[in-house]
Amino acid sequence: MQVRAGGFLCAENWQQLHMALCCGSNGVLAVWSCEIRIGPYTSAMTIRPDSIRQRPLPYADCLQQRSPADIELVVIHATELPDLAMARDYGKRIHYPDSGTGNSGHFYIDRDGSIEQWVAVDRVAHHVAGHNANSLGIELVNLGRYPHWLDSRHQHWQEQLTEAQIEALIGLLRRLQAKLPKLRCIAGHDELDQREVKASDDPDLRVRRKLDPGPGFPWSRVVEGSGLARLRNC
Ligand SMILES: [Zn+2]
Repeated sequence: MQVRAGGFLCAENWQQLHMALCCGSNGVLAVWSCEIRIGPYTSAMTIRPDSIRQRPLPYADCLQQRSPADIELVVIHATELPDLAMARDYGKRIHYPDSGTGNSGHFYIDRDGSIEQWVAVDRVAHHVAGHNANSLGIELVNLGRYPHWLDSRHQHWQEQLTEAQIEALIGLLRRLQAKLPKLRCIAGHDELDQREVKASDDPDLRVRRKLDPGPGFPWSRVVEGSGLARLRNC
């Protein structure tokens, strides 16, 4: 009964409880860890609990811990998927069996401007190669190149961001900046990962792995509205 009581505190359902248990070498210890750590999701790490829906990924407590004071950079992403539900499915996938964790941002902003937090800011999320330790990832729901991401004939961006998303993003960035003393830089995923790979339709052609947040991202407006500086100027 103790396991059930502890599990319900850190998992939305039994599937998530099972995953939470699997990410610790000792199931009972993993549950106790979740039980102890529920506090930050509901108070200290929540910037405005009334406007940000807290929906931690099942493995969120298995991600590496860090001090929020170490966060210097925000990386802006686009999901390149049709909707938030599919992004959630991708985020739940386990890519690192040793830790039982996967790839995701910390925050997700849907087309209507609603914001969800899937990883606490005091945890290192896997969202950008080489820059995870000191950064936060914010994902904007957007089709991007879906579903032919690496097809050389399909490299155009299919959808604009919505006004509600941009407004919500600027508001979130301001709140994060007020809470995180060293946060001062912002970058797009495409700036930090400029690798090219073989095109899926023609191995003689190469395409960019990452183009998000996309060519239409309103950089000057977001920089001006947030008070953050582009990474190249930091
Ligand atoms: Zn990205």
